[in-house]
Amino acid sequence: MDINNAHFICSNTEWKKCPKANLPEYAFIGRSNVGKSSLINALCNVKKLAKTSGKPGKTQLINHFLINNNTYFADLPGYGYAKISKKSREEFQKFTLKYLKNRPNLITVFLLIDLRIIPQKIDIEFMEYCAINEISFVICFTKSDKLKKIEVEENRMNYEDELLKTWEHFPINFITSSAKQTGLEEIKKFIGENNSQFKI
Ligand code: GDP
Repeated sequence: MDINNAHFICSNTEWKKCPKANLPEYAFIGRSNVGKSSLINALCNVKKLAKTSGKPGKTQLINHFLINNNTYFADLPGYGYAKISKKSREEFQKFTLKYLKNRPNLITVFLLIDLRIIPQKIDIEFMEYCAINEISFVICFTKSDKLKKIEVEENRMNYEDELLKTWEHFPINFITSSAKQTGLEEIKKFIGENNSQFKI
């Protein structure tokens, strides 16, 4: 699928206030600074659709973007660094987990993971949460341009090995770089294929 237009629709602190669930929706989530805003912007080919910054964001908002007038992207709050405080964890649960459980049009979650770092407990916990609650997710490995080609494959394989210790399958995953536009076509193709099967 080509993305021809993308608009910001609204920010919410409550899933109940999110736009009517009548279009296929894809959510983006990951640890702060993983490159979530950059990936959304790169996919939509709009520089400042989602905010990007060098600093981890503190905003706890669900941001909705309307894509091609027929799809929603939901930019979910980043879940902090590995050691998040109890308070942030509670906040995260209040907004995000409720959203994930109560959004009937949610097709899948793009879980962003920095390909340069070893599997993090918080990401694995999130995957487990999705599995338990039957929330579909795929992995987008980010910042692949910061690694050599061989390291990209090595790191992905290490990640797979680690996950397969407890998981039956390695989830669908994309190697991406917003900086070098890597993996964007694959993600858009994936969205197009899933949209064509959308029924509410
Ligand atoms: P967010 O907090 O997850 O939304 O992360 P941002 O998109 O704001 O990115 C955090 C930092 O990582 C910024 O300094 C970005 O320029 C940088 N960044 C994001 N994506 C990439 C990428 O694909 N390659 C490189 N080299 N840097 C990136």
